[in-house]
Amino acid sequence: MRLEQQFFFVSCSLQDIIRTHLLRHPSLHNLHDTAAIQLNDTHPAVAIAEMMRLLMDEHEMDWNTAWRVTQKTFSYTNHTLLPEALEKWSVGLFEYLLPRHLEIIYEINRRFLEDVKRWYPGDDNLISRLSLIDESGEKYVRMANLACVGSHAVNGVAALHTELLKQDTLRDFYKLWPGKFINKTNGVTPRRWILMCNPKLAELYNSKIGEGWLKDLSQLKQLEKYVDDPDFCQQWREVKLHNKRQLAQYIWEHNGIEVDPHSMFDIQVKRIHEYKRQHLNVLHIISLYNRIKQNPDQHIVPCTFIFGGKAAPGYFMAKLIIKLTNSVADIINHDPDVRGRLKVVFLNNFNVSLGQRIYPAADLSEQVSTAGKEASGTGNMKFAMNGAMTIGTLDGANIEIREEAGAENFFLFGLTAQEVADTKAKGYNPWDYYSSNPSLKAVIDRIADGYFSHGDKELFKPLLDSLMYHDQYMLFADYQAYVDCQKQVAKTYSDQDKWTRMSILNALRMAKFSSDRTIREYCNEIWNVRSVPIEMEEYSQENAGLNLGK
Ligand SMILES: *Cc1c(COP(=O)(O)O)cnc(C)c1O
Repeated sequence: MRLEQQFFFVSCSLQDIIRTHLLRHPSLHNLHDTAAIQLNDTHPAVAIAEMMRLLMDEHEMDWNTAWRVTQKTFSYTNHTLLPEALEKWSVGLFEYLLPRHLEIIYEINRRFLEDVKRWYPGDDNLISRLSLIDESGEKYVRMANLACVGSHAVNGVAALHTELLKQDTLRDFYKLWPGKFINKTNGVTPRRWILMCNPKLAELYNSKIGEGWLKDLSQLKQLEKYVDDPDFCQQWREVKLHNKRQLAQYIWEHNGIEVDPHSMFDIQVKRIHEYKRQHLNVLHIISLYNRIKQNPDQHIVPCTFIFGGKAAPGYFMAKLIIKLTNSVADIINHDPDVRGRLKVVFLNNFNVSLGQRIYPAADLSEQVSTAGKEASGTGNMKFAMNGAMTIGTLDGANIEIREEAGAENFFLFGLTAQEVADTKAKGYNPWDYYSSNPSLKAVIDRIADGYFSHGDKELFKPLLDSLMYHDQYMLFADYQAYVDCQKQVAKTYSDQDKWTRMSILNALRMAKFSSDRTIREYCNEIWNVRSVPIEMEEYSQENAGLNLGK
């Protein structure tokens, strides 16, 4: 059904593009002058074969011309470095559902591999890696390979991601066509992710510099002169407190948990995945809890930990991470020793609408993926634009966010992508970290003892076994660095003047992450289109607010 859907949507779109083109042009030889088709991941990659079918079988074009038009029309954005996430369809399924497309894919492959053989004679391993067909066992069509061969440009979505594509995931294609590879760092729209979701912040900006920033986010830099202005800093804190109160109200209504808007809101919202390491966040929370249990009177910065995100239906470990988070929340929120200084909340049904309430209310943005695994991240950008500080690894767009904000305005920890690869090559042994770090051992032992699961020692065993014996994502390797970095965060948060200053500079320096910049680059460097002025109704905050459901 999935392949059928992909084909159906792709075929409808291509036929519509061709129909529209033929209204104004006599032939399809110049289709690439009127249409640019961006493959958003490999899900629509079957469009390469469908375009060839339409041009040849329906519009009587010869193979060479059709192939030239197809390549000039298509480009491909890769969205993940995880090899298990690269789409493959079994040849048997393709033959049953789309026999003509399989025939075309075989012919694309035959001609492509003939070229490769001429360029690199005798390199059979290279041929088998580049082939559109995986023939190592049961035969599969490799959709990423099809997308690379059929496109004139291939891009990653952050600088590190594009580099890793070139060095690793797509290195053989990079060797053939280095000029095809290009970076397009993702962005988010300031209309939704500042104006709509944070009207008080938008109003503060408008009162100082007018509305120009909405269409040109770099104008926010003009506000840096207010970073030492006590009135501006006070207004900045009031905006944040207002947003935190609103979210606290939502949490009370939906979770029945009372949270203090004056506590630090430490938030991780994103799909649940082991590489994103929500469980590293949970281990840190348990370490704080252990400190309180050892000494209930010790000073601790009051903190509200908020989680949200969905797990894929068949992803057992992701669901177990949700279960662990809720179980830890249940114990900590009800332990009188904690005296309300820590609260843990898991919000159901995280989606864009809920995101619009959450991002503006954050003090701290959790971006703690294993370095080299997060292609870009865009949540990191939404948080930063709304004045949250980031605690994060050198991964995805975090690297560029830190460059823009300044290293002194970013809480960095953990192994680099290179160090992750080196540690893996040497043989990562989680046991060494567990047995030599009493804090880590105490955290793991508390989960293993059934403390958070009513004495059930089996419930979280699959998760703990994974962490202790075969963890690809190296939580234990980053554990101490993360806990130490969180101590630095708490210390900084205690100095509200310093924190406010960092928060302001962060938000004002995020212009690079406006989707306007991203889309302009796609226009200029991939699609070859020029911008034209259009008539539009004035965009008002009243109109924007209508869709918020607040
Ligand atoms: C922005 C956004 C994401 C992406 O979050 P990351 O932290 O970049 O993974 C996911 N889901 C929703 C609802 C979002 O708004």
